[in-house]
Amino acid sequence: MGGKTSAELLTAVAQWWVAALGTTLTALVGCTIDSNSARVDAQDWSGQRKRMVDEQLKARDITDARVLDAMLNVPRHLFIPEAGRVEAYADTPVPIGHGQTISQPYIVAFMTQALDVAPEHRVLEIGTGSGYQAAVLSVLAKEVFTVEVVRSLADRARETLASLGHRNVHVRTGNGYLGWPEEAPFDRIIVTAAPDEVPPALMEQLKVGGVMAIPVGSYSQELRVLRRTPEGTELLKTLPVRFVPMTRKPR
Ligand code: SAH
Repeated sequence: MGGKTSAELLTAVAQWWVAALGTTLTALVGCTIDSNSARVDAQDWSGQRKRMVDEQLKARDITDARVLDAMLNVPRHLFIPEAGRVEAYADTPVPIGHGQTISQPYIVAFMTQALDVAPEHRVLEIGTGSGYQAAVLSVLAKEVFTVEVVRSLADRARETLASLGHRNVHVRTGNGYLGWPEEAPFDRIIVTAAPDEVPPALMEQLKVGGVMAIPVGSYSQELRVLRRTPEGTELLKTLPVRFVPMTRKPR
């Protein structure tokens, strides 16, 4: 007895390989996630995100469970350049470069709730910025088309969205006054930069029965939530807001 058969030897070698591979993988993963500090960070961000949802959204008038859930799950801090990340879950807008900001969490939630997005909807967003609002919408809608006038912001948003697996978001660099005619009509339109008046092209690209949320005005602005009707538009609600101006109005 004593001697191993060739099958037993093969099994022993295979077991050794599995053990060795396991050790190597542990070492690799240990390096890439920066062990404890990354874990502590991850816990901290999700704790902050939960507080944001409880204290800034639920404590106000955000009641739509799908919206609350989306905002509990989308990692807002990853849409903000590192220098500003500590502010990611604060009750304020945060700079994202090029003089632009990611909207305050409550405003993202208010607009998203007002839009009443359904899983079969195709949504157009004007003003991609960081891509965060598009990410929240992409959890709720079938497809999101988003237009950003600053190329480097559009590129960065596209990368962030792809790295987080939001495959149903399409980012285009262009002038949002013109919408995205090739993909129209849309069930919902959200505008996150303020024009003086509702751009006619956007109204044309909204389905009859569709809803648009848009801040309008220059110094003093109001967010309008509008429904397109066969005769024109119906104003559903308003909220005083402060958005960056929409640039490049066509003549
Ligand atoms: N929704 C964004 C925040 C929007 S900030 C987010 O979730 O981060 C407003 C954005 O609108 C800015 O990035 C600005 O560059 C963009 N913008 C301004 N005028 C525009 C236009 N005419 N067309 C498209 N984007 C425009």
